This record gives sequence, C-alpha cells and structure tokens, in this order.
Amino acid sequence: MGKPTGFLETVRKTGAKRLVADRIKDFNAIEGDLSVAELEGQASRCMDCGIPTCHFYGCPVKNRIPDWNDMVYRGHWKAALKLLHSTNNFPEFTGRVCPAPCESACTLSINQNAVSIKQIEKQIVERGWEEGYIKPQPAATKTGRRIAIVGSGPAGLAAAQQLVRKGHEVIVFEKDDRIGGMLRYGIPDYKIERWVLDRRLKQLKEEGVIFETSVNVGIDISGKYLLRTFDAVVVSIGAQVPRDLVIPGRELNGVNFAIPFLVQQNRRVAGDVIPEDEVITATGKHVVVIGGGDTGSDCIGTSIRQGAASVTHIYYQDVPPKRRPLCNPWPERPAIFKTSTSQEEGCERFWKLQTREFVGEGGWLTGVKVVELDWTRPEDGSRGTFTEIPNSEKILRADLVFLSIGFQHCEHSPLLVDLKLEYNKKGSIQIDENMMTKVPGIFAAGDAELGATLVVDAIFRGRQVAEKVDQYLISEKTARVEYSIFTPR
Ligand SMILES: Cc1cc2nc3c(=O)[nH]c(=O)nc-3n(C[C@H](O)[C@H](O)[C@H](O)COP(=O)(O)OP(=O)(O)OC[C@H]3O[C@@H](n4cnc5c(N)ncnc54)[C@H](O)[C@@H]3O)c2cc1C
Ligand code: SF4
Repeated sequence: MGKPTGFLETVRKTGAKRLVADRIKDFNAIEGDLSVAELEGQASRCMDCGIPTCHFYGCPVKNRIPDWNDMVYRGHWKAALKLLHSTNNFPEFTGRVCPAPCESACTLSINQNAVSIKQIEKQIVERGWEEGYIKPQPAATKTGRRIAIVGSGPAGLAAAQQLVRKGHEVIVFEKDDRIGGMLRYGIPDYKIERWVLDRRLKQLKEEGVIFETSVNVGIDISGKYLLRTFDAVVVSIGAQVPRDLVIPGRELNGVNFAIPFLVQQNRRVAGDVIPEDEVITATGKHVVVIGGGDTGSDCIGTSIRQGAASVTHIYYQDVPPKRRPLCNPWPERPAIFKTSTSQEEGCERFWKLQTREFVGEGGWLTGVKVVELDWTRPEDGSRGTFTEIPNSEKILRADLVFLSIGFQHCEHSPLLVDLKLEYNKKGSIQIDENMMTKVPGIFAAGDAELGATLVVDAIFRGRQVAEKVDQYLISEKTARVEYSIFTPR
C-alpha cells in the first residue's frame, strides 16, 4: 500500500472531458489524461484491501489492480506495465472503452468515490508506449504447429498474440477489409481512435501473426479446408445478429439496425466513401433510438455529431434507481441511473414506453407510435411486470429510427454449418470446459460463445482459449510421440 492516508487526503479525479460544444464537431477522443503527479496521487488512494474485490470480482481479466496502483504511486512505471500486461494484452483498449466494473467493486466506492482504476490503467500503458517499453516479443523457438483464428475482434487478437508468443504459426482470417472486429467497425472513433488499434496490430505482425482480410471463412474458404490445413482452429466470430422489432411499419425506409449506421461513420472517419444509395445519415433528421446499452448510446453520439435535428432515446424499462437498492449491494455491478458521454451531449430520454408501430407516408418513416407502461417495483429487486396505461398512446416524430435492443447470438453462417458445430440454448457456439466444440481441434472464444458482452470479456476469453489450444497441441504432440514409439512399424 503506497500511502496509508491517500484516500483521506486526495479526491478522485479522472482526465478532463472535452467540452460538449467542441467535441460534437468531430469524432476525436473525448477524454484527456492526468499529469504524472496527479496520477500518482490517484494511485495513492488505493487502500490495498486484504480482499481486493476490484481484482478478483470486478475485473474480468483479473488485472492486479492494487499491486500496480502501488507501483505507480512509487514511480515504478515499467514494473506496473509488466504486471498489467501479465493479465491483459490490450490495456489501452480497456483503459478507453471498459465500463470499469472494477470501480463499482472498489471498497472505497461503498461510501466514497472509487479509485480511478481505468484512468490509471490507460496511463500506465500509454506511458509504456511513449517510453518505448512495449516491443514485439517474438517466440525464441517455433513449434511448427499451425493455428487458424477466424475473426479479428479482441477475442481473436488476444488469442493470436498469446499463441504466437508460444511459438505457434498463427493466421487470423477476417471477413472485413480491416482488422479489429467491433473495435474497428462498431464502436465510434470518439471512444477509441483507430491509431490505438493500429499501433497494437503492428506489434502483433512483428511478433509473427499473419492477417488475411476480406476472407469470409465458410464462403471463400471452407471449414473443412481449415481442418485439413491447421492443427487447431479458434472461432471468434462475435455475436453480430441483432434483435429485431417486428411490428407494423418495420419495412419503412428510415427504420434501421444500429450497426450499419455506426459502421458507415467508422468508414468515413477512416477515409472511405460510402456509395450514395447506401448512405444512412442523421443530418437534419429527427432521430429516435430504441433500446439502451453501448450501442444505443453510440447511435446518439454519432447522430449528434452528424447534425441531427433532434435525438430521442426511448426505453421500455422503468427508470433505474439513483442509488443501489438493497437487493443490488456492493460489490455487484450497480443497475442504477447512468448518463453516458453521448447522452450528455443532448438527447431527450423517456422510459416506460412500449413501441407499437412505425408510422409513415409513401414508404418513409414519419413517426413512432408508443404507449406508456406502468411498472410494478418488487422489493426483492426482481424485474417486475408492466401493464399498458389505457389511452396513453402517442406518436413521436421520427425520420430515422435505430434499433439497438441487443444482439441474439453469432451468425449461424455457412462456416458453422460446414463444421457441424452445435449451439447452446441462446444460439451461441456450444463449447466444453476446454473451450472446445464437439469437433476435436475446433475451439470458440469471445462473443461467439458467450453472447454479446464486453471487450474485456472477449480479451479474457481469447487468453483462456490460447491456453486451452496450447495444452491441446501439447497433448496431441505427446500422443503422436507415444504412437511413434510404441506402434510397431
Ligand atoms: C456499437 C457497439 C459498441 C460497443 N461498445 C462497447 C464499449 O464501449 N465497451 C465494451 O467493453 N464493449 C463494447 N461493445 C461490445 C464489444 O465490442 C464486443 O463485446 C467485443 O468486440 C466482442 O469481441 P469478439 O472478438 O468476440 O467479437 P467481434 O469484435 O464482434 O469480432 C468478430 C469478428 O469476426 C469476424 N467474422 C465473423 N464471421 C466471420 C467469418 N465467417 N470469417 C471471417 N471473419 C468473420 C467479424 O467480421 C468480426 O470482425 C460494443 C459493441 C457494439 C456493437
Ligand atoms: S479491464 Fe476494465 S474492469 Fe479491468 S481494471 Fe481495466 S477498467 Fe477495470
């Protein structure tokens, strides 16, 4: 513990956010950094609790938070970086986009503001890049084993880096034209600028990872080809099938899933030109976003930056409580009222609205018909039930609707059919305790097997699957050696 009285002397601080009026003019990063002295002060607030809930309960990659807080406070930045990388391949991604469940599990957050863990994580790794501490770590010896990774999101990238460092030959196949999954096409650039991703990809390439873009596995090459050519395959194709809202008027022009809209904006920022007949733009339009979560929030921030006439965000749920209810105690993730940076930028929010119908004229959307709901609030914290309030129907003006009501599961694409993989009840890829599918040598990781989650969960599963694949290859190799020794020729 760096400074026993740190939490009594220093108040929580995070990097300043750019002013709303400025940041909505571009797609650049919103949050800045603290000075070294300020950050060391923030690290000193960590109480080095006997049971570090931030580490073992809050953080999905099990970052060793109290230890690196102590190192930062003492100015041992290089050691802090080494420790951070021992659990997380890409702290510069999580330091920017993670919702920081570690902070809601921080003991200080029981009656004070949590330690600024996410900010400290980001600045440890950024300082590592600046000082030149982060270098490629190619394996000293090669194993001669070949692994195919299908999908280049954070799960696939974490698996690739771990496996190439163990000396295996790793080829990542990606159906898009650029590498990164949702970190490339999905999450807006103002949450993570793409040079952050490119910088890390350069390291992976220098370590020997081979990237093959614009290869839709299952169509351009078959699953059977992968089985014949590689010793193991990791399927990390994400969970990109969106939930639909099948109600009257769904076919109207102007009712869209969120992802195509967000991807177009990522492409514009990257310098691509969107074909005119495909453009979805919020400029000058009245936008209604249906559904919460990161995706809904990202549609709001993107619409505002494109110059929407108005942005309205509707949820069918009840308004969340301002403080943790008794049924949602620390260190659980708090299901409380939150305002994202995008919501801060100017949208109207309405709860307890059920969407009945999309209304329009001449095939174009003009409004969303909603009805108000009355929710019960059970004291045991269960979700409650709702009834529609009679005569509460109204129409919200809308030229553009974005559906962001979640994702169902991975795409049940020709690849999965070709490989005859099985699905669990939620439609995600079924795996066993070794993260292997029912086909020997084929593994799955990330959103494809978990269902849609977070970048940090995907990184964790990518690291875990790399361990499992490595163990599988070792046991395979052992089996082969035993076979060659004991089998009479
Ligand atoms: C709009 C949006 C905003 C989000 N914001 C956040 C956030 O702020 N913080 C956070 O922690 N999480 C966020 N998430 C969630 C996070 O992005 C995902 O949980 C994470 O990216 C999952 O990683 P993954 O590697 O499993 O899959 P993905 O990132 O989805 O990557 C899967 C990749 O597989 C490729 N692929 C699919 N099929 C094939 C095939 N047959 N052949 C070759 N390639 C294929 C896809 O093209 C894709 O590149 C957000 C998600 C969305 C949609
Ligand atoms: S990865 Fe997320 S949960 Fe873990 S320390 Fe970083 S911000 Fe916290």
